[in-house]
Amino acid sequence: MDVKILEKTENRVKFILEKSNPAFANAFRRLMKAEIPTMSIEYVDFEENTSGMFDELIAHRLGLVPLVFDKSFYELKSKSKSATKTEVTLVLEKEGPCVVKAGDMKSTDDKVYPAEKDIPIIELLEGQRLKFEAVAQLGFGIDHIKWQAANVGYRYKPSVKTSGADPKVVDICPTDVFEKKDGKARVKSEDKCILCMRCTEVGSGVTVTADDTSFIFDVESVSGLTASEVLSVALDTLEERAKELGESVKKTVK
Ligand code: SF4
Repeated sequence: MDVKILEKTENRVKFILEKSNPAFANAFRRLMKAEIPTMSIEYVDFEENTSGMFDELIAHRLGLVPLVFDKSFYELKSKSKSATKTEVTLVLEKEGPCVVKAGDMKSTDDKVYPAEKDIPIIELLEGQRLKFEAVAQLGFGIDHIKWQAANVGYRYKPSVKTSGADPKVVDICPTDVFEKKDGKARVKSEDKCILCMRCTEVGSGVTVTADDTSFIFDVESVSGLTASEVLSVALDTLEERAKELGESVKKTVK
């Protein structure tokens, strides 16, 4: 298997996975979405809430705030098998008028804090008060979407070939795969093709195929992890699972 990085920022990475197969690509996608531990608020103890919103609604919004956390929690959790070892409390006390934002929560651990401090939680009007203690825990996207580490999608790598193609395909293609050169259509950016097949309906000059051994992945972190961390934890987990499976098969066939 080969990997070619197409684009990389802190929160997003696009890459091509080559010499692979659909089963592996899908397992990798599911792992990144559902089985990477991230930190999120799990329960909230409200001491005061005179806002116009119920406690439950505010708690729900708090749960969706992505939190940056200390990666050493992974080891603590796996050693102790207990969520409480990695619990962190965040407190807030505010009085209106103001917009309460994620960054207003004060964490008892300086390595755990909201990934985006400007996420609005609620607007408090004159004299309205909000005071709570929230407890964040490590969890998995497979249990609740609030712990999902990243949005992950992939598509088969397209192959687009032209031979005497009608120049109309340049305007028909929704993703600018073609360009006009000397009155003819030719392929400009094959990777942009979304396999909609509209160009193949214009005439016989274009062939579009999907390569089921190469996949274009788009990974966007929606948690306190960077996109690179999501990839790296997913690969470690995959390796661990493959090892466990190998050992279990060996024991069974002995
Ligand atoms: S299949 Fe669709 S996206 Fe791909 S080149 Fe043809 S028109 Fe463009």
